[in-house]
Amino acid sequence: EKFNIAIDGPAGAGKSTVARLVARALGFVYIDTGAMYRAVTWKALQIGIAPERKDELVRMAAGLRIELHPGEDGQQVVLDGQDVTGLIRSSEVNRNVSAVAAVPDIRALLVAKQQEMAKAGGVVMDGRDIGTHVLPNAELKIFLTASVKERAERRYLEMKAKGEDVTLEQLEREIAERDRLDEQREASPLVRAHDAVLVDTSGMTVPQVVDRILELSNT
Ligand code: C5P
Repeated sequence: EKFNIAIDGPAGAGKSTVARLVARALGFVYIDTGAMYRAVTWKALQIGIAPERKDELVRMAAGLRIELHPGEDGQQVVLDGQDVTGLIRSSEVNRNVSAVAAVPDIRALLVAKQQEMAKAGGVVMDGRDIGTHVLPNAELKIFLTASVKERAERRYLEMKAKGEDVTLEQLEREIAERDRLDEQREASPLVRAHDAVLVDTSGMTVPQVVDRILELSNT
């Protein structure tokens, strides 16, 4: 039967890779909620709205058409008809997304959309507040984490492979700063739900993490 799986954790813990593979194994739909916050942030940067101008930000976001198209190798993000899948992963978006995601009305808007998408069940959803706030009744909740160093190294290899010009130190700083902002914000901060299973992926391979979650989804 179709249940829901919530996967939360800090930046770079491997949530999207793992969630996608778990969804594929179960025949579920993978939903990356971070992509929605990134899409709003990308648009704001594009048209020059600073994250501090909250009213304008919320008005802009309310008028956006954000579509997530689940696919075999990840989720495609379409914003008002434009494919922004690659564009929302830039360093500039990385640096600004936490501020945008801290605006309560932005969260309310996106959370409603996320709940709608999970209504029928059969969803593996990843984010920061899925187990605590978006899907408090999810049948399985995972809190995925790893050391900052390991998370930065993984991101570094990913970005290098895409030919992006970054240093490991820069990524470590970015990740630590994003953790701090996500954990300390007032609106739905990143915390482990009391009923989420903690999985520390430091030193684990992707298939090992996926197997662990599949095991948990059987029990
Ligand atoms: O998951 P990802 O790193 O792409 O998320 C980007 C940012 O979006 C996070 O750093 C966080 O600020 C925000 N976010 C959030 N709630 C979610 C998913 C992402 O606040 N459910």
